[in-house]
Amino acid sequence: MYSKIIKNGTIIDGTGRPAFKADIAIEQERIVQIGNLQKANAEEIYDASGKYVVPGFVDIQNHSDVYWTIFDNPSLDSLVAQGITTAIIGNCGASLAPLLSRDALLSIQKWHNLEGVNFNWLTFEEYLNELSKRNFGVNIGSLVGYSTLRRGLVKDEVRSLKPEEMVVLIHALEQSLKAGAFGLSSGLSYAHEAAIASDELFTLSETLKKHKAMLAVHLRSEANELLESISEALNLSEKTGVNLKISHLKVRNKENWHLFDDALHMFENAFQKGMNVHFDVYPYDFVWQVLYTYFPK
Ligand SMILES: [Zn+2]
Repeated sequence: MYSKIIKNGTIIDGTGRPAFKADIAIEQERIVQIGNLQKANAEEIYDASGKYVVPGFVDIQNHSDVYWTIFDNPSLDSLVAQGITTAIIGNCGASLAPLLSRDALLSIQKWHNLEGVNFNWLTFEEYLNELSKRNFGVNIGSLVGYSTLRRGLVKDEVRSLKPEEMVVLIHALEQSLKAGAFGLSSGLSYAHEAAIASDELFTLSETLKKHKAMLAVHLRSEANELLESISEALNLSEKTGVNLKISHLKVRNKENWHLFDDALHMFENAFQKGMNVHFDVYPYDFVWQVLYTYFPK
């Protein structure tokens, strides 16, 4: 007698093998048997006929933090309903920690109204402690937002960092990685990161590589300069060996659609060189972006 049996489903197990029909037996919290269990008994039996049975999805491009959803609606049931069991937040250059000054949180204001927002952490470690007290509907992991780090230091100024500022920033990044951050995200098309020079990104990539952490890049251009932007990101990975992920890969505006084949070839080449390069895509066919990103620079 098992705790649960899921019968008659088509299993996609995530290893890359083709889908197959089988039953699954669960004892306590663990899968203990996969095969023909038509005659077996369980406390609860689910009929998954005509359905797929899959491991929980990991949403690696999630914004539930900067929309404040993790606090307003910690059950995160819209994610659970999609089969997501783990969400990686802190994307596109914005995270909720570390806060080098109160200006750091301005990095999230394009998603959430900061009026009345209450927080009681500064460092990444304090942030994770706060999150661990909550009862979220899914597992949560976070990147460090580069804009969050930067704006905590230079506030609203759009300029290159001075060497001594870079030292402070790298220190804050390393402390965050040691506390449990998965890596760094950058939102290069947003105004406060548009002025960032490649050598700044290069230094960050080297730091991330040293800590076996990943770099997630929201490209500088997702329109007519898509290929140049991909090339900039791939270059960082090729030169430093950092594990790279391009966020929400797409090409904006119909006249640029023809660039997509070349974009995929660039990734194909990178894979063949053995580079640790990945991308994610939206599972829907529309785009949301702040209005100014549609204007000339
Ligand atoms: Zn983005």
